[in-house]
Amino acid sequence: MSAETPSIFSKIIDREIPADIVAETDDLIAIRDINPQAELHLLVIPKSADFRDVVELAEEPELLAKVVKMAGDLARQYADGEFRLVFNTGAAAGQSVFHVHAHVLAGPTLDEGKLV
Ligand code: AMP
Repeated sequence: MSAETPSIFSKIIDREIPADIVAETDDLIAIRDINPQAELHLLVIPKSADFRDVVELAEEPELLAKVVKMAGDLARQYADGEFRLVFNTGAAAGQSVFHVHAHVLAGPTLDEGKLV
């Protein structure tokens, strides 16, 4: 379960703070990362705040599959369809927002050596 609510992503989902939204369904929202690490850097975010990371999200495999499918659709729409899908899991691994989200990275990396 999510530790701190509402997360920054919940505020974006609720339109309390602005974001560059590129896709939205009943379950998911996708936004441009505010601090891009690649030419294309999107975040695919389940609207539910119930999952803090991808391990928790794996308890809902259908929702996890929807995240992956949207990532592929967006990579085709905004890049050439080839992409990295990154779930930072835990603070020591670089996770800073504990509301599960997938980084969709495509094109040249902007800051060599830094993944996300
Ligand atoms: P992580 O460090 O894996 O938890 O990823 C969190 C990501 O959210 C980072 O890449 C941030 O740049 C991004 N981020 C934080 N706040 C915002 C925001 N308001 N709009 C878009 N992206 C954000």
